[in-house]
Amino acid sequence: MAKSIGIDVGGTNLRIGVFDDLHLIQEIRFQADFSAICKAQTPTHAWQTVLDTTAHSVQDVLAQYPEVQHIGIGFPGFIDPKTQTISQSPNLPGLSNVNLAHDLADILQKKVIVENDALAAAYGEYCLVDKPVSGLIYIGLGTGLGGGLIYSGAPFAGSHGVAMEVGHIIVCQNGRLCGCGNRGCVEQYASASGVANSYLERTQLHRSAFEIAQLADAGDEVARLCYQLAGEYLAHMLASVLKVLDVPNVVVGGGMRHAWHLLYPSFQSTLEADLIPALRQKVTVTPSKTEDIAGMLGASLLARHW
Ligand SMILES: [Zn+2]
Repeated sequence: MAKSIGIDVGGTNLRIGVFDDLHLIQEIRFQADFSAICKAQTPTHAWQTVLDTTAHSVQDVLAQYPEVQHIGIGFPGFIDPKTQTISQSPNLPGLSNVNLAHDLADILQKKVIVENDALAAAYGEYCLVDKPVSGLIYIGLGTGLGGGLIYSGAPFAGSHGVAMEVGHIIVCQNGRLCGCGNRGCVEQYASASGVANSYLERTQLHRSAFEIAQLADAGDEVARLCYQLAGEYLAHMLASVLKVLDVPNVVVGGGMRHAWHLLYPSFQSTLEADLIPALRQKVTVTPSKTEDIAGMLGASLLARHW
């Protein structure tokens, strides 16, 4: 089968995977702090930097794999399913109404598709599950908090590409200001940056979510409380989503899946309490076992299939 490329655009790096169907042949990482670039530069300059950096990185990989024809990109933003336009990216401020798929295809002369990063990861997880499932929800806990839904075997993006933007479900009235413009979104509490902010508020100390997890494991009560809070808010959000979608399989991925043991106790008890009785103990929520390649894999498969 022909090889394809899947790209996971993160806040600080670009991960490019070369795939032969479901098999990862090689992963190459490029330093690309798009989050800092978007905060420091004007929107026009930031967009040009994002486009040039992505194009140069892909060209580097294509020099090794010139036979690749399909390139899929998981991008942290709202992607119009008809036009592929990125309407907004809450974690890459200033980027709006840009078309990475179109502009990159022009430069590379290859087929390029762009999908929301969490939806791409959802599709990757769906294609890797051991047993066939009718539907799957993916929750990505990284710098932000994304969600993706696979329903009847197909990715569900909604009419405007904002289906499953679950990170922006409000769980705390008049809470922390979010990149989307609202206050109290679950992303501000249950993502890596959310946990870091919870710790900062209580201690005035800047620590990463990873460092806070280490502190929690060592018995630091404030650190444990921050993860407990994240688990509770995550469960409030997910219970609401499940009441709408009634999907039996949920996979939690992203960098914070390593702290699942810290989130899980408060998450599980809150989820059971929030769910209606008909759904209790009928939803399987598991951390991803795909070593974080689901985003790249899903993007590469979507480029080939759609
Ligand atoms: Zn928000």
